[in-house]
Amino acid sequence: MYRAGYIGLERLERMTKEEYLVKVENLYKWFPVRRSIIEAIIKGEKIYVKAVDGISFAIRRGEIFVLAGESGSGKTTTGKVLVGLEEPTRGRIFYDGMDISRIKLSDWKKIGLRRKIQMIFQDPYEGLNPRQKIVDIIAEPLIVNRVVSSKREAEEKVLKILEEVKLTPPEEFAYRYPHQLSGGQRQRVSVARAMVLEPEFVVADEPVSMVDASIRASILDLLIYFREKGVTYLYITHDLATARYVGDNIAIMYLGKIVERGPVEKVVSEPQHPYTRALVSSIPVPDPKYAKEKKRLELRGEIPTAVNPPRGCRLHPRCPFAMDICSKSEPPEVDIGGGHSVSCWLYSRS
Ligand code: SF4
Repeated sequence: MYRAGYIGLERLERMTKEEYLVKVENLYKWFPVRRSIIEAIIKGEKIYVKAVDGISFAIRRGEIFVLAGESGSGKTTTGKVLVGLEEPTRGRIFYDGMDISRIKLSDWKKIGLRRKIQMIFQDPYEGLNPRQKIVDIIAEPLIVNRVVSSKREAEEKVLKILEEVKLTPPEEFAYRYPHQLSGGQRQRVSVARAMVLEPEFVVADEPVSMVDASIRASILDLLIYFREKGVTYLYITHDLATARYVGDNIAIMYLGKIVERGPVEKVVSEPQHPYTRALVSSIPVPDPKYAKEKKRLELRGEIPTAVNPPRGCRLHPRCPFAMDICSKSEPPEVDIGGGHSVSCWLYSRS
């Protein structure tokens, strides 16, 4: 299987457009909290949900780059900013060398970005219009983006892509409604709708979290199939087992920040940051013999709100290894070798 090399932080700024498809530099996405006029007068300055709070990473062409973390970590917001569903608050996003953070979202279609960048959503039930037949659902982006010149051409493309996502014979699925399909088949339709435009970059947001465990691997294999055809991915997940199955490199997010990153195999098999260790230790082990050997690392409480994240290391109120410095100062990102880096004072104090 293709495995892209990891891009170290020190190289990020110097990377040329030949080396990456997507490069994110110091990205912030804050959402203002709505308050009444009286509340605003009493409490003073504006309050924000700091969903994404200064992250940087790069995705090479043909790579499956994973962004992982619990819900509330900021990974889905990052994905939405990259596909142009949200404007960044601050920071720069380069796509194929072009700074797209400076381009109005309303201009994305004009310069072809809406066709080149697609998203696969988590919920195949919500993402498909129940009143449209599958053929119309998949043909819609072709028509909106003026990729086809006739209904017949659109239909031909739909039948071809249905075959590619293994909904065969395609004529049998094209004229059904979403409720006449199983969850797995609906997710294949979501993949088909994203891929029919032959995009270069796809954000896949938890694409298998709502389908039966028995068919997850076959949906992930579809993503890998389109990667072999040249698609680059940002794969968003809370599930490190699927991250390991499809991913090349991974960044672990906690409360809007990246806390650990590196080649996915290394990060999942030798996690260093206490947060990553807790995530890895929660992956179920099928054999009870090994389950006993596997030591579980538990964090205290729940992920706090991103309105007022803890000072210093954001994990400190939940971390079993927290020290004095952790609540005072934010840990720097430290390269621990092999393209693996971690932001934790346990690695910065020697
Ligand atoms: Fe835990 Fe401190 Fe490391 Fe944060 S910096 S993860 S609180 S040990």
